[in-house]
Amino acid sequence: LATVDTPGGIALKVDERRQTSMPGIYAAGDLANPLMPSVTTASWQGAMAGIFAQQSMLV
Ligand SMILES: Cc1cc2nc3c(=O)[nH]c(=O)nc-3n(C[C@H](O)[C@H](O)[C@H](O)COP(=O)(O)OP(=O)(O)OC[C@H]3O[C@@H](n4cnc5c(N)ncnc54)[C@H](O)[C@@H]3O)c2cc1C
Repeated sequence: LATVDTPGGIALKVDERRQTSMPGIYAAGDLANPLMPSVTTASWQGAMAGIFAQQSMLV
């Protein structure tokens, strides 16, 4: 999976739908967000990743 360098470390590269460089693979939480590690952030990103993953299977 593609990564990006951030001031907080290496992170998985995701688009606005939280999809990684590999179609069908979504990421959330600290792996994709080293700058602001928090349970709240991991939770909303996980929810979004789940929603978009489901949408990708419907269209
Ligand atoms: C000491 C400490 C205190 C913190 N306090 C707070 C706080 O008060 N409030 C707050 O909001 N956030 C806090 N955080 C940050 C918060 O814990 C994280 O941002 C959050 O847990 C990230 O969730 P995640 O699901 O991305 O990752 P994680 O919670 O780290 O979950 C990743 C999971 O993947 C598992 N795993 C790793 N590698 C593999 C593998 N190869 N195969 C299978 N499983 C694997 C790990 O065992 C782990 O269970 C704290 C962090 C630390 C370290």
